Amino acid sequence: MTDITTNGTSSEPARPLRILVVGAGIGGLTTALALRQQGHDVQIFESSKLAQETGAAIHLASNANGLLRRMGLDAGKIGGVECVGVTEYIPQTGAVKYQIDTSQMSKMWQHPWHLVHRAHLHTALKDMATGPEGKGEAAKLHVASRVQGVDAAGATLTFEDGTNVSGDLLVGADGVHSLARSSIPGGDKKPFDSGKSAFRFLLPTESLSSDPQTAELVAKIGALVMWIAEDRRLIMYPCVNKTMMNFVAIHPSKESEADITGAGWQETGSKARMLHIYKDFAPSVLAILEKADESKLKVWQLLDMEQMPSFIHEKLAVVGDAAHPFLPHQGQGGGQAIEDGVALAAVLPFGTKSSEIKDRLQIFEECRYERAHRIQGYTRTAGMDTADLAAKGMKLDMMEYMGYNFGHDAWDYTTKALRMHLEARDKTLRFRNPIEFGASPGPRQPLGMHPTSVEIQALRKATPEKSRTYSIRFRTSRTYLQNLLPAGFAFTSPATVASASISCTTLDGMTWLGGGGYSMLGLYIHGINYTKRNGSKVFGTYLPVLFENAADPIITGRDELGMPKLFADINVKGNDGDERSEISLSWRGTTFGTFTVSGLTPEEPVPNGVNGSQPVQRGPGPPPPPPEAGTFYYRYIPSVGEPGKADVEYPVFIPKPEAAEGTEAPKSFASKMATISLQGKNWQTLPTLHHVADWLAGMPMYGVGEAKLVTSTVVSDSSGARRLD
Ligand SMILES: Cc1cc2nc3c(=O)[nH]c(=O)nc-3n(C[C@H](O)[C@H](O)[C@H](O)COP(=O)(O)OP(=O)(O)OC[C@H]3O[C@@H](n4cnc5c(N)ncnc54)[C@H](O)[C@@H]3O)c2cc1C
Repeated sequence: MTDITTNGTSSEPARPLRILVVGAGIGGLTTALALRQQGHDVQIFESSKLAQETGAAIHLASNANGLLRRMGLDAGKIGGVECVGVTEYIPQTGAVKYQIDTSQMSKMWQHPWHLVHRAHLHTALKDMATGPEGKGEAAKLHVASRVQGVDAAGATLTFEDGTNVSGDLLVGADGVHSLARSSIPGGDKKPFDSGKSAFRFLLPTESLSSDPQTAELVAKIGALVMWIAEDRRLIMYPCVNKTMMNFVAIHPSKESEADITGAGWQETGSKARMLHIYKDFAPSVLAILEKADESKLKVWQLLDMEQMPSFIHEKLAVVGDAAHPFLPHQGQGGGQAIEDGVALAAVLPFGTKSSEIKDRLQIFEECRYERAHRIQGYTRTAGMDTADLAAKGMKLDMMEYMGYNFGHDAWDYTTKALRMHLEARDKTLRFRNPIEFGASPGPRQPLGMHPTSVEIQALRKATPEKSRTYSIRFRTSRTYLQNLLPAGFAFTSPATVASASISCTTLDGMTWLGGGGYSMLGLYIHGINYTKRNGSKVFGTYLPVLFENAADPIITGRDELGMPKLFADINVKGNDGDERSEISLSWRGTTFGTFTVSGLTPEEPVPNGVNGSQPVQRGPGPPPPPPEAGTFYYRYIPSVGEPGKADVEYPVFIPKPEAAEGTEAPKSFASKMATISLQGKNWQTLPTLHHVADWLAGMPMYGVGEAKLVTSTVVSDSSGARRLD
């Protein structure tokens, strides 16, 4: 993508932003890693000693896994198991209800769906965010640092010991009981019991495969396995290179409330209670539950929360469970925390100024608010008891949910939103078809950078742009030329002998073409004026056709300037000091114009440029016409599917550019010896140009006047072109 996001045009040097993250869970660490990779200075403050994430596994669906892979974290290398199927059993009988082979389905998603041990994911994220390897400076992790105060306007955190630290931006990744979110107006939300709790435990796969009662259940390791009853369910899936099976036993909270003491994610559950809660399930299920190690059995109350009014305020953004606590029914809570962290980094590329942060947070919110809440909504529906679903006339459409959840890339989505935001704000940016890729590189936006950027100035200095223009002025018929002029244009003189020039310029060292060049040849009709709607007149030279021998300037010139450009081969033979120079105009081997200039001798530079030296009063006669202030032409864009109709058509004027200060004066040579030969051709030899070639060949020639060669190091980008009227 074109880098239009950094402060390349600003005199303020780019520096890393100082970003303070509260909480080192999956959300905080992903945010830190993504921001580090953007080149920022990140510090993470974690209240715990960060000994170990609780022993349970997590789904990394395609949407989250892709983001981790982009940052260099391959779940397959930390024991992640690819989910290759789904089996649902009837809880009471243990019979198969349905099986889906997701290996086929997985071909739809660009990244695999991995099942990973949380501790392994957490450690990998921590190492990548804070370790010496990798892009950007390592984030600094402060453990046992409980944040007690969050000042969003001042971007300041206060700790238990009364000390504080300030930065450019605060990120609240402090989980479901977040303190940070209460700094957002209306965000002081308290999570509440969703009505469900979950026992969680892990078992060695071998303990199931060696037991005839359960061996069948792990025959296809890599599958997600479910037993879903009216108001309770058991979910099983592998992790740790298939050596461990992870279990989540979701049930009505009231049946395990005796276990809840307020220890949060470290709460220990009672195995006897768990067996009782699942007593009606098939013997194979009870055999599994029987194997659970009670000392490691966790029970979590599944918390829900009202929607936050916003995820941002002043210089604070909240991410993950702090912003939108997730129920586990779709395995998307961690995934959405990962999306948040990556999206936040995406709106803050290196070079973002501190003063731009509030604006960028707004884009972050626009990219995250609707999506996170929609997935939360799907998750709530996915967790509803079957009777409640039926009573509400609702149906689970897992494919719709999966398509929405998996089919998103938070980095791609957010970077596009940022690009559109920046492009809409910068009124100097230029666009041409195709617009889908953003602002277009071209003469007025070299290499896609800002024309005044430091990089462009340096390139221009290293390879100066050069132009070499031959022009041959000749006399011809005003009445013949007049037929070319659109409404509003007229010759200034009533004389029937008019003056025109063939002018051929070769450009070289063009920055926007990577240092290359091309040639152009046009017919310029002198002594023209245009009468504007307000009655005022503009005087100039009319350009009815300009041939060029490269596609890029033809496209940019037609699209951005509206110039009447056509392709032709232009061959220029001649160097400074040559006795004779020759220019030919052809198309696929058919020559339809030849021009020669001989005996050029140096002369004083004429400031009025190549195409029209100033008419001078040389004796008695009518007063000289007013100075030609620039070049006219006519823009015409045909309508699609409506032959003969224009989408737009209007006259354009490019004023003569002012001589730039400190630039070398052009060198000028003149001669009276020049020839012009134009040949009409038929449609077989010039299928797309014969109408123009015929017209040019039909121009009466009343004598060639002066010829000139002007060489210059100043090349105008014609950015002064404006619509007339
Ligand atoms: C049973 C269950 C199963 C789940 N299964 C999945 C799954 O399969 N896939 C999935 O994607 N998601 C799953 N989730 C959800 C997922 O685990 C969470 O959404 C995710 O961990 C949230 O990450 P977080 O970083 O926002 O919050 P947390 O992981 O809660 O991290 C918050 C951190 O902030 C720290 N902290 C809190 N307060 C402060 C403070 N004042 N100062 C400093 N530090 C502080 C905490 O110590 C903690 O380390 C599941 C959740 C549950 C409950």
